[in-house]
Amino acid sequence: MADAPVTTKPAVLILLGPPGAGKGTQARMLQEDFGLVQLSTGDLLRAAVAQGTPAGLAAKAVMEAGGLVSDDIVLAILRDRMAEPDVSHGIILDGFPRTDGQASALDALLDETGQSVTAAISMEVDDGAMVDRVAGRYTCAKCGEGYHDSFKVPAKAGVCDKCGSTEFKRRPDDNAETVRARLEAYHDQTAPLIAYYEGQGVLKRVDAMGEIADVRAELAGIVKDVAG
Ligand code: ADP
Ligand code: ZN
Repeated sequence: MADAPVTTKPAVLILLGPPGAGKGTQARMLQEDFGLVQLSTGDLLRAAVAQGTPAGLAAKAVMEAGGLVSDDIVLAILRDRMAEPDVSHGIILDGFPRTDGQASALDALLDETGQSVTAAISMEVDDGAMVDRVAGRYTCAKCGEGYHDSFKVPAKAGVCDKCGSTEFKRRPDDNAETVRARLEAYHDQTAPLIAYYEGQGVLKRVDAMGEIADVRAELAGIVKDVAG
């Protein structure tokens, strides 16, 4: 008897963790290593703010205060992004979902195409270390490579290791007070999603306090397992 045709569905991975856990850094690496597409709602919202779209105008003050943008706005932005063709390579969601409502909306959206969450990976860190991590971070303005005042400086001061650019930028919400508000929003509204995905049987946990390369290796092992 002939085997049923194998239809591999694109992987849907979620990175869960507080600001500073390293979601963006690791999502970029998973994109390089596995050809998955990183979808960061934070990046999409910052782009909307920069473009001055209605969603961006509504989100700006909330983001600057470290609060969560409304589900309606975030979902509209995500839905648009998920309609683009490159997501068929599989996606890694970075910073989404962040509330119960977003998690159910994601399940419903995936269900429309017969998909579901492949794995939700909780990046476990000590809160105390996050303020220093976030308050010292900056990125290359050209290629987006991430750096940190103490933990990851460019090999040649002021020059991006990846692309040679000499321009860098810092996010306006990466200051100590705002980070505290963002940590609080994470614990109140996002951390409960760990139990939600545990209930679905798709939760994985990684120790994200270690070196970037070690976390990368641990994540790669998980991704190979569930989506390789
Ligand atoms: P971080 O994870 O370091 O806090 P992000 O870049 O993911 O940074 O998000 C920055 C800000 O954008 C958040 O503090 C919040 O205001 C807004 N934001 C991003 N994603 C979401 C989301 N899924 N729901 C609500 N607000 C969001
Ligand atoms: Zn660069």
